[in-house]
Amino acid sequence: LFVSFEGGEGAGKSTQIRRLAAWLRGLGHDVLVTREPGGSPGAEAVRHVLLSGAAEMFGTRMEAILFAAARNDHVEEIIRPALARGTIVLCDRFMDSSRVYQGITGNLEPDFIEALQRVAVNGVVPDCTLILDIPAEIGLERARKRASADTAPDRFEKEELQTHEKRREAFLDIAARDPDRCHIVDAQREEDAIADEIAGIIEKRLSL
Ligand code: C5P
Repeated sequence: LFVSFEGGEGAGKSTQIRRLAAWLRGLGHDVLVTREPGGSPGAEAVRHVLLSGAAEMFGTRMEAILFAAARNDHVEEIIRPALARGTIVLCDRFMDSSRVYQGITGNLEPDFIEALQRVAVNGVVPDCTLILDIPAEIGLERARKRASADTAPDRFEKEELQTHEKRREAFLDIAARDPDRCHIVDAQREEDAIADEIAGIIEKRLSL
């Protein structure tokens, strides 16, 4: 089972991934937690560049191609082999983030983005995508708190509220177009309530 987690900044993806992984392991499943951009040594190196100041020199197309290159490495080196072993893969961001960040707010043509995704994922598409939905204002506030608590905010988190709200709409739109794969999870609630809902969704998927 391949599960991706999507959503804007501060939606609580990493917390929920950690909780779902612990719950699944408790049930005796083999679980791999991974993230994008990154997840394999090569892709982590590309992540470092993408989230650094160097990326200011890149045009949006170059950036999208680099995300796709990193995704392909991650798929071939890590995700596909794990799925083949029967491991449940939980991935923090995947192809929908490219559709939203590079496609919608990066203003790149859908055809260009979709072509890149085909090459990047090479047939490995999530069985289930959990879209953690939160109003941009609340998510950003959470992300800011986290940033001042640990590291400096990355360049993506400095963007305006309007851009974040646009991304939120774009994630909801993806979910509406692909309802078999996508589940929208209201991420404004208590952590426990969110974790319970997610566990229920995954439990159902596992029994299919
Ligand atoms: O998941 P997290 O929010 O930590 O992701 C790191 C950053 O990379 C995010 O701030 C996000 O805005 C950015 N990103 C992106 N395009 C992707 C994936 C992530 O711009 N395809």
